[in-house]
Amino acid sequence: MTLKEKAEALRQQKFDLCDEVDNRLKLADDLSDLNAFVRLRPDQARQKAEDVQSRIRAGKPAGPLAGTIIAIKDNINIRGEFSTCGSKILENFRSPYSAAVINKLETADAVIIGKTNQDEFAMGSSNENSYWGPVKNPHDKTRVSGGSSGGSAVAVATGIADVALGSDTGGSIRQPASFCGVVGLKPSYGRVSRYGLIAYASSLDQIGPFSSTVEDTAYLLSQIAGHDHYDSTSVNLPVPDYCSLLKEDVSDFTIGIPEEYFSEGLDTQIKDQIYSIIEQLRAAGASIKKIHFPMTDYGIATYYIIATAEASSNLARYDGVRYGLREGNDEDLIAMYGLTRSSGFGKEVQRRIILGTYVLSSGYYDAFYNKAQKVRRLIKNEIDEAFKMVDAIITPTTPTTAFGIGEKVDDPLTMYLSDVYTVTANLAGICGLNIPAGKDKNGLPFGMQLLGDTFQEAKILRVGNFIEKNCS
Ligand code: GLN
Repeated sequence: MTLKEKAEALRQQKFDLCDEVDNRLKLADDLSDLNAFVRLRPDQARQKAEDVQSRIRAGKPAGPLAGTIIAIKDNINIRGEFSTCGSKILENFRSPYSAAVINKLETADAVIIGKTNQDEFAMGSSNENSYWGPVKNPHDKTRVSGGSSGGSAVAVATGIADVALGSDTGGSIRQPASFCGVVGLKPSYGRVSRYGLIAYASSLDQIGPFSSTVEDTAYLLSQIAGHDHYDSTSVNLPVPDYCSLLKEDVSDFTIGIPEEYFSEGLDTQIKDQIYSIIEQLRAAGASIKKIHFPMTDYGIATYYIIATAEASSNLARYDGVRYGLREGNDEDLIAMYGLTRSSGFGKEVQRRIILGTYVLSSGYYDAFYNKAQKVRRLIKNEIDEAFKMVDAIITPTTPTTAFGIGEKVDDPLTMYLSDVYTVTANLAGICGLNIPAGKDKNGLPFGMQLLGDTFQEAKILRVGNFIEKNCS
């Protein structure tokens, strides 16, 4: 059943939401070795289910997400609930307010089943940087789930939740979705309010959905998108009913294929399968156009300068005074900062704060940060030119399927390079959708990425829905 059908079935009292919540909690318990959740919310989830159900029994209206069971990444605040962000420094931090998306979900009557595991402060591509330990891939427990929203991807892949929310700064929704075989969308910058999302790199961060089908992602996006006066970067554009725009036809679309995204380093099974899907789209009437993104080579360097610079600034607030952990005594302030941060932040977060502080420091600012901003503009220009000619762009989401736990953790550069296909969307502010594309010879899923111009989510959802229903 789709989310929409579930809401209808619940209204007709065709299933019992409280039983459903209990089943999912039981499943989460059975699969606890995957480490997908930082915390389940059995009491709150049951209470919400009872509340929705009793309203329906009394003949009162219920929201569009009545019947939906959703999991939330641990960097999205829920009032009164722990928000650890996968970090020791926030181990005991409870948020005093709810994120804009949480308020929307609650009003729409979704049941929030728990907070999902993630890389610390969303910094990572494998979920191995979590204070709570790595999330395991349900298709092969010796492999990573992807990151940083690995717990959300696994919650959906296993059916513990119908859908989930994650955040994507450089690929953190699309990459774990690809590794776990689910749909994941990074909306355009400004489409969804970031209010209540704990910041990593504010000019790149966006909240987005995970689901099993494109239709459910479209449905959930319609619920969470929209302007919010608490986030000045959220745009005041009407929110389409994305589901009604999912017509199964791509014959009026031109789809761009950037050659640079299919070159060395890409697994041949992934490449062959995506090419086969492109041919199926051509046969269905889409016109396929080769395009060029010569700036692709600079994406990773640009991203890791801008993201770390913004992170070093955003994470300055964790000083042992205002939030969470404090180590040392208050007599020596500088020593207290040092002790708190050394003990509270993991290795990767410390590395990024140091890198980011370096690229912002006087004498290096122009050579690194300023230059990266200029390259970002050139990347954006290249993307803008492409979207004058095409409606959507197809690329792989990741160069490989899920790698082994421990395989890349000591080699940050190799880890960073695995984000090569996803960072551009964040740098350019456009939208990107991962949809499952196939499995490799070891049975591991991989996805493909559909990129759309700013606020053109409807177009990539339409292509994604077409592929999901018609291509093999
Ligand atoms: N893997 C990228 C990073 O480590 C992207 C993370 C994200 O999108 N939050 O920064």
